[in-house]
Amino acid sequence: MTEMTVIAASGAALPQEPFLGRHLIGGTWRQSLSAKTFDRHSPAHGVLASRSALGAREDAEAAIRAARASFDSGNWSRISGKARATVLLKAADLIEANADRIALIETLESGKPITQARGEAAGAADLWRYAASLARTMHGDSHNTLGPDMLGVVVKEPIGVVSIITPWNFAFWILGQKLPFALAAGCSCVVKPSEMTPSSTVIMGELLIEAGLPAGVVNIVLGYGPDVGGTMTTAPEVDMVTFTGSTAVGKSISAAASATLKKVALELGGKNPQVIFPDADMESAADAVTFGVYFNAGECCNSGSRIIVHEDVADDLITRVVALSRKVAFGDPLDPATQVGAIITPQHLGKIDSYVREAEKAGAEVALGGARLSVPGLSGDFYQPTVVRGVTPGMAIAREEVFGPVLSVLTFQTMEEALALTNDDAYGLSAGVWSENVHTCLEFSRRAQAGTVWTNTWMDGFPELTFGGMKQSGQGREIGPYGLDEFLEVKTLVMRIGKTRAPWVRQG
Ligand code: NAD
Repeated sequence: MTEMTVIAASGAALPQEPFLGRHLIGGTWRQSLSAKTFDRHSPAHGVLASRSALGAREDAEAAIRAARASFDSGNWSRISGKARATVLLKAADLIEANADRIALIETLESGKPITQARGEAAGAADLWRYAASLARTMHGDSHNTLGPDMLGVVVKEPIGVVSIITPWNFAFWILGQKLPFALAAGCSCVVKPSEMTPSSTVIMGELLIEAGLPAGVVNIVLGYGPDVGGTMTTAPEVDMVTFTGSTAVGKSISAAASATLKKVALELGGKNPQVIFPDADMESAADAVTFGVYFNAGECCNSGSRIIVHEDVADDLITRVVALSRKVAFGDPLDPATQVGAIITPQHLGKIDSYVREAEKAGAEVALGGARLSVPGLSGDFYQPTVVRGVTPGMAIAREEVFGPVLSVLTFQTMEEALALTNDDAYGLSAGVWSENVHTCLEFSRRAQAGTVWTNTWMDGFPELTFGGMKQSGQGREIGPYGLDEFLEVKTLVMRIGKTRAPWVRQG
């Protein structure tokens, strides 16, 4: 095997008992009406990580009824922004106090490194705090220029009952991109986490009860997409669906929600390019490319899985990235030294490998990796850091989400060619440009079709900065002030002052 940095089984204690997850409906924890459960085993260690109530249509309907009753009662939708912010701030404190517990279950269920999971919990607390600030500062606008007898006021109201459906790759973090913003707006919610990573959402439910959230404002239903998620996207009592996940499921949700004309917000996949011009700081670019492709084992909507590098510096960049890749610590997610953990399922690992095999057959060259990684002492699912060069734009590996630690390298000669390669893609989530020339960076940033463009950096994010995709990467925006607006309706109030309007009906 090619030389790589592998972290063997750490011997960290594994849980003796699985985390037990139940639905949260109308303020009480419940088993499924069918009494059925489902299990999640750790992809790195094979241990039983969690056993959860297996929801079905009836459970989802009960949760939707509870959310509807809560919203209509005004127990959250009509209280002050200050009162909402108080609960959100308390929730943020509780996330921090429980960060280790959240991180451990997230690591066991997803296979991601424990230090990363802790960082995500801390980052999520910051999202809750930021949303609390919006709860107190949101406002509409007034129009005092409509004439002496008219006043116009545009108010913002919570949209109503929101279905929140989340994926497995950043279960707790993505919940934090949606739920506190919906709550800040005054909505009541039904949340369905991925069947692979249900437990951190259950913990969030516990923390919200402790923070003083009224019963029925947040309801959680565990289970699979078609049964639970399907009900959440079609029920007439639901006003909006916000979904993060694959583009294929996003399209089916959009179609399902259209029968009742719900608002739909979608955060979907990406095939995100980093474009490296010849005058770039190669040391920084190579490090960011390495981070961009291996972070979260490449199971990341923002994965920088597509490098478009100028021909003059392609060999240099690839040599640097391959050397850095060998130093990235792959292995036991429970070891704090690990930077890249396990792949979510054996089926997904097979899919990652098939992209590499297919690219090889089509003429690409595997410069590093390209096979399953064995980690001493662990029987789980790991994939080697992989660099594939000589990729051409028509190959599946250049166009589709591989969702694994696999870098595809394409080359260009001119700015126009770099932009054509960047934009010749169904997705438009994020893109990056590397150059020391401000004009090159601005030209690229303005013409790249992507919701976020990073300049001389990759994947930096802040609660203040809105995130979302163009084209088939989604619709709507999350976090930042726009992230709040998604959950608000706008209402116009037109008011006459005095009795000055000439009567419409002629008198006499
Ligand atoms: P997925 O689409 O398979 O599942 C996402 C969620 O949808 C899960 O909770 C699942 O149970 C549910 N679901 C499945 N079928 C459903 C249906 N018919 N109706 C309602 N709900 C249904 O996605 P995944 O595999 O969990 O996550 C990986 C995908 O998520 C990748 O494509 C990735 O790019 C995308 N993603 C996007 C972002 C972003 O912000 N743009 C962030 C993270 C992940």
